[in-house]
Amino acid sequence: MPINKIQFQRGLSLPDHFAEYGSEAQCKAALEKMRWPDGFICPDCGETEYTVVQRGELKLWQCRSCRKQTSLTAGTIFESTRLPLTIWFLGIYHLTQPKNNVSALELKRLPCVNYKSAWRLKHKLMQVMDEREDKRVLNDRAEVDDAYLGGVHPGKAGRGAHGKVPFVIAVQTSEEDHRPWYVRLDPVSGFTKKALIQWAEKPLRSWPTWM
Ligand SMILES: [Zn+2]
Repeated sequence: MPINKIQFQRGLSLPDHFAEYGSEAQCKAALEKMRWPDGFICPDCGETEYTVVQRGELKLWQCRSCRKQTSLTAGTIFESTRLPLTIWFLGIYHLTQPKNNVSALELKRLPCVNYKSAWRLKHKLMQVMDEREDKRVLNDRAEVDDAYLGGVHPGKAGRGAHGKVPFVIAVQTSEEDHRPWYVRLDPVSGFTKKALIQWAEKPLRSWPTWM
């Protein structure tokens, strides 16, 4: 099980991050591409024809069919935020790039963020990551292993150790060089055939639609 490789996965460097998402305009363009990869789709009726309405700084997409006006961030976690997107993106960078978790205190070092907003930003992002991870379905090539987390230390090692929670680890790896892409960690009731079949129904079925 190539779990170790995950720790050495090459990430985006901080200068790379700033080159790509350093300005508000770059973040907006990136968000638009993530949200509507094939062009605007009205969240209400699915229409793709629109006109742009500019209200001061705010750009609105007005649906040609139902006339609903949608902003880039409407219905996303960035909606009604007072923080610039560059800060959100930097927060996402800090939470996802290093392999060890980042504290709200570290996020506070981001420009123009106080502790309260840093804490909120971190928790909002983690909530979204949790929800997304829960929906993550691994594609054809997945490597699966069992593991225990927690437990009394020093204790009995391995299966059956007291207080340890059984987990299934599934890693989706690339076809060519088996590089790890995604990891899922799911607690299971035990490593019985029944529990594992029940578990496998969730992450191994097919690709989901993300957004
Ligand atoms: Zn519409």
